Amino acid sequence: RRLVDGLTKTRDNIVSGMDSIFNGFTHIDEDFYEELEEVLIMGDLGVQATYDILDKLREKVKTQHIKEPVECRQILIDSIKEQMDVGEAAYEFEERTSVVMVIGVNGVGKTTTIGKLAGKLRSQNKKVVLAAADTFRAAAGEQLKEWANRAQAELIGGQEGSDPAAVVYDAVAAAKARHADVLLIDTAGRLHNKKNLMEELRKMNKIIDREFPDAYRETLVVLDATTGQNALAQAKEFNEVADITGVILTKMDGTAKGGIAVAIQAELGIPVKYIGVGETIDDLQKFNSDTFVNALFD
Ligand code: GDP
Repeated sequence: RRLVDGLTKTRDNIVSGMDSIFNGFTHIDEDFYEELEEVLIMGDLGVQATYDILDKLREKVKTQHIKEPVECRQILIDSIKEQMDVGEAAYEFEERTSVVMVIGVNGVGKTTTIGKLAGKLRSQNKKVVLAAADTFRAAAGEQLKEWANRAQAELIGGQEGSDPAAVVYDAVAAAKARHADVLLIDTAGRLHNKKNLMEELRKMNKIIDREFPDAYRETLVVLDATTGQNALAQAKEFNEVADITGVILTKMDGTAKGGIAVAIQAELGIPVKYIGVGETIDDLQKFNSDTFVNALFD
């Protein structure tokens, strides 16, 4: 039940509001739709998804001759699930080595998330190599080292200020030599300098392409759920500079803005693969849209 515990505030924010509308209205009119719209927008589901969800609801109310507001509940649940459908495959590591680039701006919980991910993979007996390719902040490498120790994963680092691409080169060599299952690469999150970031990612990707053409590749962007619509904006920006294959939403514990998972999948078509629900190594959960929506509306 930890998923639900972690989502209490999001659930209160979205579902409690909705239920009071379903129960408070005696019939379906414009006010009813307007209030639902407000709850969905305030719940951070995003403007586009909100309109799509409500359009679908209006259509079903019409075609199915629905009269009772409360009958709209299940339609809304199904409609949210439909909006979130990105044909997502659960994040499974393949037989061949996975090389996972992790990007995100400072403070979102990127290093912590890499540590949690390493811990999760280690507990599945996977061989994990971490690359500290965020060479801009001295603290970043140190912090990653602590997580590497905690997770019992090998860490490949570089001097502060050294070329991130050189760290990636070394890490790829280490991953190949050790027959690692997964190489997780921590990168510097400098979104304010898009051109530099793009160039850096391009360089790192080129090295992986060249040195490890057979690897299974992922690029995950880490976003802080507590920032709501700002997280969505970041996802859009990163999506412009990189081929994002998935999102990790951190700090879902204690935020009312968990609806942002809906907005991200609906607007970008990128799956949320994991959510962070706390600060310890075990506080990372695989994300599944249906489970998420069911947990909210349980
Ligand atoms: P980075 O700058 O993106 O690498 O961010 P850090 O990994 O240093 O994390 C920033 C802060 O967010 C730290 O205090 C973490 O403990 C905290 N944090 C990260 N993930 C979560 C989460 O899922 N839940 C909560 N509550 N805190 C988190």
